[in-house]
Amino acid sequence: MEFLSVQNLVKNYGDFTAVDNLSFSVNEGEIFGLLGPNGAGKSTTMNVISTLCDFTRGKVTVDGFDLVKNRSDVKRIIGMVPQDLALYPFLTAEENVKFFASLYGLRGKKLHTAVNEALEFVGLSDRAKMKPKKMSGGMKRRLNIACGIAHNPKLIIMDEPTVGVDAQSREHILGSIKTLRERGATVIYTSHYMNEVEEICDRITIIDHGKSIASGTEQELISKLSDSKTLKITTKIKSDFPVKELLSELSSLPDVNHARIDENEIILEIKTSCRDFALYPEHIKQRGLPIRGITSESVNLEDIFIALTGKELR
Ligand code: ADP
Ligand code: MG
Repeated sequence: MEFLSVQNLVKNYGDFTAVDNLSFSVNEGEIFGLLGPNGAGKSTTMNVISTLCDFTRGKVTVDGFDLVKNRSDVKRIIGMVPQDLALYPFLTAEENVKFFASLYGLRGKKLHTAVNEALEFVGLSDRAKMKPKKMSGGMKRRLNIACGIAHNPKLIIMDEPTVGVDAQSREHILGSIKTLRERGATVIYTSHYMNEVEEICDRITIIDHGKSIASGTEQELISKLSDSKTLKITTKIKSDFPVKELLSELSSLPDVNHARIDENEIILEIKTSCRDFALYPEHIKQRGLPIRGITSESVNLEDIFIALTGKELR
């Protein structure tokens, strides 16, 4: 069931368009990934959904509530973990979580339990009395998460929650996001780290310059956008070998999308529908070149991203 719907969202800052007709939807109980390079418009989109900033055009609904008409209903069911840490340096960890949870109307025993549970959840129970200024980057990130989820929101928005954290905190954070899903929450996760999105997200939208450029599950994105597999054949090429001719022969063999040579490696992009991969090394052998090794790899999300945006993520 659709939980969040973003339709034709536009956000202008003066005459600059940060989010450009963006549409996507998130189903109840899934971890949805918004992936894009820096400046793509991820935070702006998250800030709009979490009611922190207004928008120029479009329609957003959360659990059936319209973001403009039912703003306070939307606020009640979302929890925001912002990209820029939102913590009070002179309050303890416990007091920080308490402050944010109380904004959602929690009081007394309920508040106390919610704070303890949130600290426990992010692994900071033993640091309840510590102030953020004494914490490592990873601990601050985890506290930031505790502040965003203590009121048990149905929709949790996490904007680059692993930036600048140590490996241990990162694993803890990724694990805790999966646990939130198991508990029934719906999560939007933004990142410019491909591997994280691959690891935890059920569905993904890739954005660049405020526009959606591809959406689907990891496998759907890969099969939608790529129909080739890379075959690398290692050989030994002497300097007088007619490389150009060999490449043109290989390019004209069935199912070859592209052929190139990198020193002693012949790299072929072959259609995934190809049934006879042996054809290519066989041809190379017939031209008198030795076959020293063959490796094959499928295209991954990172290749797709580079193909679509012309940019590396990191
Ligand atoms: P991301 O989170 O994907 O890195 P942002 O949403 O932060 O991207 O930014 C998208 C674009 O909007 C960037 O070009 C950024 O410089 C611009 N931008 C963000 N906030 C503002 C603002 N308050 N005023 C003007 N431009 C902004
Ligand atoms: Mg951002």
